[in-house]
This record gives sequence, structure tokens and C-alpha cells, in this order.
Amino acid sequence: MRALIKHHAGTELKFVPDHSVPSVGPRDVLIKVSKVGICGTDRHIWEWDDWAAGRIPVGIVTGHEFVGTIAAVGAAATKYPVGLRVSAEGHTTAWKDYNSRTGNAHIAADTKIIGIDRDGCFADYVCVPEENVWPVHAKIPDKVAAVLDPLGNAVHTVMAAGVSAKSVLITGTGIIGLMAVTVAKAAGASRIFATDVSPARRALAKKLGAVEAFDPRDNAWIGEVRKTCRGEGVDVLLEMSGAAPALNQGFEALRNGGTAALLGIFKRPEAFDWNRQVIFKGCTVLGINGRKMFETWYQMEELLLSGRLELSDIITHEFPIEQFKKAHETMISGEGIKVVMSVNG
Ligand code: ZN
Repeated sequence: MRALIKHHAGTELKFVPDHSVPSVGPRDVLIKVSKVGICGTDRHIWEWDDWAAGRIPVGIVTGHEFVGTIAAVGAAATKYPVGLRVSAEGHTTAWKDYNSRTGNAHIAADTKIIGIDRDGCFADYVCVPEENVWPVHAKIPDKVAAVLDPLGNAVHTVMAAGVSAKSVLITGTGIIGLMAVTVAKAAGASRIFATDVSPARRALAKKLGAVEAFDPRDNAWIGEVRKTCRGEGVDVLLEMSGAAPALNQGFEALRNGGTAALLGIFKRPEAFDWNRQVIFKGCTVLGINGRKMFETWYQMEELLLSGRLELSDIITHEFPIEQFKKAHETMISGEGIKVVMSVNG
């Protein structure tokens, strides 16, 4: 099969025209991939930064966001038929640890993620455990179904924080931050504020439903937001940037007793004023990782079927997988937001 592999401990990926098709274990499902999404994580793998060098096994097939069709099932896999259109939760677990057995399998101690710890979906075929399969509703197009993984990150963050009838600040409007704007709006946030250094992303955040989007390099916005929120600050902070200044600004804008949900990944351990921003503030801080299996997936399906999510301006480009280089560069340069590659259809 065709596959994009991390061929060496360095930058870029290699297109292999004749990679072997994954072998299907008894409880596995083999999926013929239709479309895939390029994630920020794939950028780290492409650029081979410290995180990627420490985590990604060389030789792996990359990619974890996809939609496809079941091509074969293992001898003991009985839940889904060949031919079914599906996506899948990319976090796999042996279902043995505490969290797997108590409804939090997305943070299992033994989590192995496709395209990161085991072979992924930038290929004609991907193999996943049957438990991870998510049948895709007929009304959800392939282009959207290919990016349920990051959309699920946004939905999980918004739902974990609880935004209904609340003022919400989203720091960082990259792919997931922008998705969080439309999700928060659909979930009933009263007012959404956003920050981003990119004027284009700020404009798009406003188009998607933010009442105001600020350039974070000028601190004056914090006072402005606090003033319009009873002089006290926003009810909810969704931190989507992984940038230390944004974290500090976000907590500065958060009211006492507010909720902060943190999804952005920081490059290094950061100093933070816990006394002022968390303890004396009495706020709730949530770490967000992945998507809940499968509560988030059901919420996502309902939100998509409601017609209230605006994704057409977020999924900006599509390339055939053979143009993987151009596809990755379009995402990395910031020219594209969510870039999709078509593999089979
Ligand atoms: Zn992703």
C-alpha cells in the first residue's frame, strides 16, 4: 500500500508506494482510508522537534485523523460489517487500568496513539482495535469526518468547562481554538472573546462568533474584557495556545471562582503565579487530553447534525496524498488552517 512514513530521525516524511498492509489481529478492524487531516502534532513530527524525537519511533506510518471504510475484520471482531464508513478514536488502551475501567479511557496509563506510538492513517489502510471504531453518520461529509479527532478536542474542552450562558475567553485561535469558538457558540456561550497574534485568525474568530478578538501583544485588552464582564472577568477560560504569556493573560482575565480548561501544550515547564491566579482566586483548573470515549463523539455528532457548527472556513485546503509535501507546508506556513489529504476518494 501507499504510506507516509517517518523514514529517519530528521525532518519531513517519505512517501512509500509499496509498504506492507497492516496485519489484522483477531479483535482488530482494517480500514481503507478515504481522507485524512494534518494535525499540529503532525507538524511536530514533520519538523522533528524535541518532543517528536523523544516520542516517535522511526519507521512509523504517521497520521491520526481520518475517515474510511471497513475493508476487513479480525476473526473475533463482530460489531461492524465490511463496507461501513467509519472514523476511529486514536487513543488505544488494553482496557485494564483504573481510568479505562471507570469511564476515562482517554487518559489510560497505557495509551498508545495511532500515528504517534503505533502505525497511523497516512496510508491506504489503517488497523485499529474494534472498540475504537466510530461509525460516521450519513449526513456528515468525508471532509468533516476526517477531522473528528481535533473537533473532539474542542468539544471535550468546551463541554468539560461548561459554557452555557457564560462569558468565555479563548486564548489562541489555531485549528482547535477556532473550532472551540464555533463549538462554544453552538453550546450556548453568551459572549466569546478570543486572542491571537494573527490578524487573519482574529478576523475568522469573529466571523465564527467571537464578539471581540484581541492582539495579545498589547495587554490593554485584559482590562477591557474584565470591564465588560461585570468588572470581574470572564466565567470561563479555554487555553488553546500553549504559550506562557497567553496562560498568564488568560488567568488575569478570569473572574474569581471561574473555570479554566487547558488544552494547549507548553514547550517547557513554565513559572506561574499559583497563589494569585488559582489559590486566592478559588478557580477550577482542568487539564484536557484527547476526547472522552465515547461521550465526546456523541456530543460531536449531535452538534454537527444540529447544523450549528461552522467548519467550512476552518477546513481550508485539500490535496491528494501524493502532494503531502505541499499539504504539510501549507499547514506549517499558516496559509492553510486545517489541511485535508485525500487518499482514496
Ligand atoms: Zn490531531
